[in-house]
Amino acid sequence: MYAKILIGMALGIGLGLLGVALHFETFIHHWIGPFGTIFLRLLKLIAVPLVLVSLIIGVVNLKDIRNLSKIGLKTILIYVCTTIIAVSVGLGAVSLMRPGQFFPKDKQSEFMQRYEQTVTQREADMQQVQDQSPLQFLVEIVPENVFQTFGDNSKMLQIIFFALLFGVAIVCVGPSKTGSIVRFFNQLNMVLLKIIDFIMAFASIGVLALMADLIVSYSGDLGIFSSLGLYALTVIVALAFISFVIYPLILKLFTKKSLKEFYKAAFPVQMLAFSTSSSAATLPLTLERTQKQLGVSEEVSSFVLPVGVTINMDGTSCYQAVAAVFLAQVLGLDLTFWQMLLILATATISSIGTPGIPGGSIVMLMIVLDSVGIPIEGLALIMGIDRPLDMLRTVVNVTGDMTVASVVDQGTAV
Ligand code: ASP
Repeated sequence: MYAKILIGMALGIGLGLLGVALHFETFIHHWIGPFGTIFLRLLKLIAVPLVLVSLIIGVVNLKDIRNLSKIGLKTILIYVCTTIIAVSVGLGAVSLMRPGQFFPKDKQSEFMQRYEQTVTQREADMQQVQDQSPLQFLVEIVPENVFQTFGDNSKMLQIIFFALLFGVAIVCVGPSKTGSIVRFFNQLNMVLLKIIDFIMAFASIGVLALMADLIVSYSGDLGIFSSLGLYALTVIVALAFISFVIYPLILKLFTKKSLKEFYKAAFPVQMLAFSTSSSAATLPLTLERTQKQLGVSEEVSSFVLPVGVTINMDGTSCYQAVAAVFLAQVLGLDLTFWQMLLILATATISSIGTPGIPGGSIVMLMIVLDSVGIPIEGLALIMGIDRPLDMLRTVVNVTGDMTVASVVDQGTAV
């Protein structure tokens, strides 16, 4: 798995660079890119049934509703803590490195013009979110029609809600009367895992195609990297700090797992997250590696990971903090201590609402900006470099989920 994904990535990057150098970008776009899209679609097609079935099994395996509330509360508490730490790391990095002060002023108007239309579209999305009651997020968790929910990958929280409800009902009815349903879901789970094996057999080609197409689509935008280099570096430093300092610390303090074992299990998951920019699409592999390689029990991982993919986004929340303060620095706005705290709160909450898809956090970032009065048009400045940073923050998102799964597992095992 390791080698396959790595080779795929390396070949994809090589092919992409070759395509740019020898000008066969269109060929790559038309004839290679679609295989990446097919791979992504395959991963997405399994996401809804996987979350549903694994969560139902997760709840049923807990056998007692008291266990569910114990594990559930603990999971959510740890998720919120890691998110708050991640935002704080982001705020610390951006305040120390001050990338906004070095942003070339002439680029400001150029980027504003270039991304004006995209920002206007996102603004309309944000307006829709803001026009609703503050409690709308609670309303959104409850599906109106579960069959419609199953048909929509973006409704993961609704799927989680239904799966928990269904699992709890099975437990309450009792094992003597629900034996065949439980057996059915266990068997269905095995079938789904087999499908994931089939899909992953295609991983190297999928990753190759995704990377080649990405490089080709980015080739015209190299100028952006130079002017936004320090901003990107700040995001990278903050994300690296979380991955290489915070998570190892958490693992050392709260689990008995060796770091080598953890990162060996996590590496293919991280590579897939990097190539797909989607923690939801990575979930099948995250589940498999966490259970099989990391040895986290099925009952914990099948509960903690699907929930984490939806609500725990450490990379995203850290990135939102850096982006917000960077824009404030560029626009010459001095943020007070309270505004920083407000960013901490909104970035934490908005990362919960961010869907695990490429660029999922952009609309949510607007809400963070708006909360402290940073003009959302500023988003135009960072849009051009969003994708590579998205790839990196998605890596942190999935690593965070695996870290928390290990911690929760340790707590239940003791
Ligand atoms: N792409 C991220 C994920 O799937 C979400 C984001 O930060 O845009 O985890």
